[in-house]
Amino acid sequence: MKVLVLNCGSSSIKYQFIDTVQELALAKGMVERIGMSGAVLSHSRYDGDSIRIVAEILDHTMAIEYVLAVMLSKNHGVIESKDDIDAIGHRVVHGGETFSGSVFITDEVIKTLQDNVELAPLHNPPNIKGIQAVTRLLPETPQCGVFDTSFHLTMPAQSYLYGIPYELYKRYKIRKYGFHGTSHRFVSQKAAEAIGKPLSELKIVTAHLGNGCSMAAVDRGNSIDTTMGFTPLEGLLMGTRSGDVDPSVILYIMGKEGLSLSEASTLLNKHSGLIGLSGESSDMREIIAAVNDGNKKAKNAFDIFNYRIRKYVGAYAAAMGGLDALVFTGGIGENSPEVRGEVCKDLEFLGIEIDQQRNANKENLISTDGSRVKVFRIPTNEELVIALDTYEIVKSKQTA
Ligand code: ADP
Repeated sequence: MKVLVLNCGSSSIKYQFIDTVQELALAKGMVERIGMSGAVLSHSRYDGDSIRIVAEILDHTMAIEYVLAVMLSKNHGVIESKDDIDAIGHRVVHGGETFSGSVFITDEVIKTLQDNVELAPLHNPPNIKGIQAVTRLLPETPQCGVFDTSFHLTMPAQSYLYGIPYELYKRYKIRKYGFHGTSHRFVSQKAAEAIGKPLSELKIVTAHLGNGCSMAAVDRGNSIDTTMGFTPLEGLLMGTRSGDVDPSVILYIMGKEGLSLSEASTLLNKHSGLIGLSGESSDMREIIAAVNDGNKKAKNAFDIFNYRIRKYVGAYAAAMGGLDALVFTGGIGENSPEVRGEVCKDLEFLGIEIDQQRNANKENLISTDGSRVKVFRIPTNEELVIALDTYEIVKSKQTA
């Protein structure tokens, strides 16, 4: 089956056209600056051919029209007719408490997504726009939704409830949801395959470290805790997000600096984390370069980033009552031996022993042969998960 995977943001759409048999992206690309001047579509094909188109792209429907046109084009395309697209898989950020797995999109599902908009005001509206645009442009093509939150719906109440009045959970659905679920699911499965045991027998900590960062405790295949919370702001230090902070700090700063709700949100989401602490950059490569130049603030940011991950490895080993594997993924997790090395430092007492050579060589298994806990570096592939889920759902509909 060939599935067009769409990740619709407020002003951008990322896409991949995936052959689920070969597990291969036949084409991928991105439309940026939707609704702004000088929108850009960049498209590349599996054979290396690529093209960049600058155009006036007013909305998500027009953006998807451009994507379809380039996929159909003689010189840069990968399909001969729109019918070659068997299904569409949408990344949807927030499934709330409703969606514990991926779903076939119906009017009722769209209605539920609209009901959940308040939980993800920045992300769900463009996801819904993308679904509606596809419905207009490809009315016969089945669409599925794959949620960032679903994998974590297995968390028990002791993990997902906050210590605030229970009525607030009931009234506003305030609880920990967690995100990056497709990535945590994918890499924990890959780790089990690499170990050669079923996931149902393993206790795994996964660390997805990109611009956004989160960890999960995957106990015999189920997420039982994760670092992101009600929103993606909780937990680890991130490129521009603070992660864990005493809630009183926010109230205190709001009082001192006279910040509005939205200004406080911008402070914590956009001006904190690596950029806030270092004053240099939100990009880990630049932080590491600054550390190597002797920059003390960058060193603080780097140390706090790693320390928090190390702390959660211990916390999650305790939460699961054991640990078989630790997995690093995401732009930083996959590419930074420095971060992996620092996180795993002094964790021998937990059974974690890094092989420095393997870590530096970017091998997939980076622990020593004698390490009781296997440590992996596994590239994530969220688009492939979305394509494969979509395939399974559409196939089961067809055979039903
Ligand atoms: P997103 O969360 O937006 O998908 P990515 O997963 O691509 O982001 O991760 C982006 C992060 O990965 C950036 O902080 C970037 O600096 C970091 N990164 C990429 N390559 C390296 C590298 N070689 N060493 C350290 N960090 C890297």
